[in-house]
Amino acid sequence: MIKTDVIIIGAGPTGLFAVHQLGIKGLKAAVIDNLDKAGGQCIELYPDKPIYDIPAIPECTGKELTSKLLEQIKPFKTDFYFNERVNEVIQDKENWVVQTSKNNKFIAPNIMIAGGVGSFEPRKLSLKEAEKFEGKSLFYSVKNKEEFKGKNISIFGGGDSALDWALELSKISKVTLIHRRNEFRGASHTLNEIKKLSEQGKLSIKTPCELISIEGNESISSINIKHEDSKTEQIKTDNILSFFGLIMKLGPIIEWGLNMDKKHISVNSDNFETNKKGIFAVGDICNYPGKLKLILSGFHEAALASVECFKRARPNEKYKFEFTTSSKIIKGRLGKK
Ligand SMILES: Cc1cc2nc3c(=O)[nH]c(=O)nc-3n(C[C@H](O)[C@H](O)[C@H](O)COP(=O)(O)OP(=O)(O)OC[C@H]3O[C@@H](n4cnc5c(N)ncnc54)[C@H](O)[C@@H]3O)c2cc1C
Repeated sequence: MIKTDVIIIGAGPTGLFAVHQLGIKGLKAAVIDNLDKAGGQCIELYPDKPIYDIPAIPECTGKELTSKLLEQIKPFKTDFYFNERVNEVIQDKENWVVQTSKNNKFIAPNIMIAGGVGSFEPRKLSLKEAEKFEGKSLFYSVKNKEEFKGKNISIFGGGDSALDWALELSKISKVTLIHRRNEFRGASHTLNEIKKLSEQGKLSIKTPCELISIEGNESISSINIKHEDSKTEQIKTDNILSFFGLIMKLGPIIEWGLNMDKKHISVNSDNFETNKKGIFAVGDICNYPGKLKLILSGFHEAALASVECFKRARPNEKYKFEFTTSSKIIKGRLGKK
């Protein structure tokens, strides 16, 4: 059981800034996200798009904002738990216990739900047999590329993830890139590299083609694809990597007994607490009169919720408001003199 002051669900911009606001108050947080990295929508949906409405930052991309937020919370040495979805939230007297898809358990007096539009999950292959190979020889993300070394890899998809991994894995494995259209959506410079490799016989491209079946018992041995003219082709395959994009699922959040307003969690705007004491909702996931779905709103909400978290985590201490520049204690927590 991992014990902390606040369990933050979601490592989007709001969850990251919440770490800061809790940290300067001397509170420890554990951050859990279903994705493999921090940044939420900023990193998954628009890493290279400019953002113009972050106070005091005239322009930055989603990726730049994420790395600045991560830099800002470095002093707090926060533990991140990626690739884990929070499935269950159970009350244990004054505390909350959270269980994830990896069966990790966390306990804390506070939970801050910064879950945005829900957890991002891969769009899965619709073939029945796909499920039995999932996580063994069929994957929707790459955790460790070394696992694919020297193998026959069939990569599905037409976006950046499919192209990037086709290029990267072609250095260590035999890659077939399969897409249902002739046109790819991913970056043109990556596509040009891939086409060059294909001309050199170092990678194979199959378009427009669709997956029709997967063969194998314990692990995959081959796949069958259908070409535009309905001809089928068998391809020797050890691993399938499928990148059909992400879908956003509110998922288990709706089962935690929280008051919901359509797909949002209702909160009061004094401290962003939900109908459950000690469970807060901040950022895009919360709703209250006048709510704006902007990054700066999430920052404000996390700041106010962190005060209430302090009161619950340190019931014997009095919360004292201080400016970061004039408080010795806060400066110490930030590693400043
Ligand atoms: C195309 C586009 C452009 C935008 N441009 C701007 C802009 O210019 N300026 C601006 O202010 N805003 C902009 N926004 C909105 C902004 O991105 C959101 O307001 C912001 O991302 C909300 O942050 P968040 O941390 O609340 O949620 P998110 O960024 O959605 O992050 C939530 C995280 O929670 C995780 N999560 C959810 N449920 C679970 C669970 N059960 N277990 C584990 N993890 C979970 C998700 O995987 C995700 O990583 C834009 C949005 C889009 C789509």
